Amino acid sequence: ARGTSDGDIAVIGLGRFGCHLAGALTRLGHEVLAVDRNPEQVQRWAPHLERVVQADATEEHALRQLGLTDFRRVVVAMGVSLEASVLTVVALTEVGVPQIWARATSDKHARILASVGAHHVIFPEAETGERVAHLIVSRMLDFIEFGDDFAIAKVPVPPSLVGRSLRDLGPERYGVLVVGAKLPGERFRYATADTRISKDTVLIVEGTIAQVQQFANLG
Ligand code: ADP
Repeated sequence: ARGTSDGDIAVIGLGRFGCHLAGALTRLGHEVLAVDRNPEQVQRWAPHLERVVQADATEEHALRQLGLTDFRRVVVAMGVSLEASVLTVVALTEVGVPQIWARATSDKHARILASVGAHHVIFPEAETGERVAHLIVSRMLDFIEFGDDFAIAKVPVPPSLVGRSLRDLGPERYGVLVVGAKLPGERFRYATADTRISKDTVLIVEGTIAQVQQFANLG
């Protein structure tokens, strides 16, 4: 058997979130060890993932048996069972995993995970809910918020700006900075002062949340 290398990542809990995460990490070129307690889930994902094993991750000896002590990064991806998620984080802390990522499904859950030793807590339902709210109420095609009131959005060019160049709409006019532009069928290019804006251009803009929202809602 091959040894564990530094890029390897273990994903525990192959529910809806965990299976997407494991697939994405695999596509990014990482060896993924996927773990689930339920034999049916293991069978279901075995054909699609490199290494899928059945184990109860709340059991410290099971983690040792799987060699999780050699992993630098482990993700606790289950959401429904708070008990399983918290006990798994505790067990991973016991075996000394240096970077434990854990998924929370509520604010309280997030606080518990942090207090029992998770190094990174993620809250996908909250993050996705907030992001999708922006997409629904504005013309934004995508939106990422970085905290401290800074955001980047993908926005179709506002109709009133068609035919202008970026020189005409610098930060001093709309607050946002246009960093990229794309025509249909082409790739995104870094925006320059001479980038011309035609009807079907899609822009990447950055600024405060209010500025980005305002720009996305320009007529
Ligand atoms: P999602 O909301 O992403 O569908 P779920 O919480 O429903 O997530 O899925 C959890 C997955 O984690 C299930 O496949 C379940 O079998 C698995 N699981 C639950 N408890 C354990 C455990 N102690 N050890 C390993 N896997 C577990």
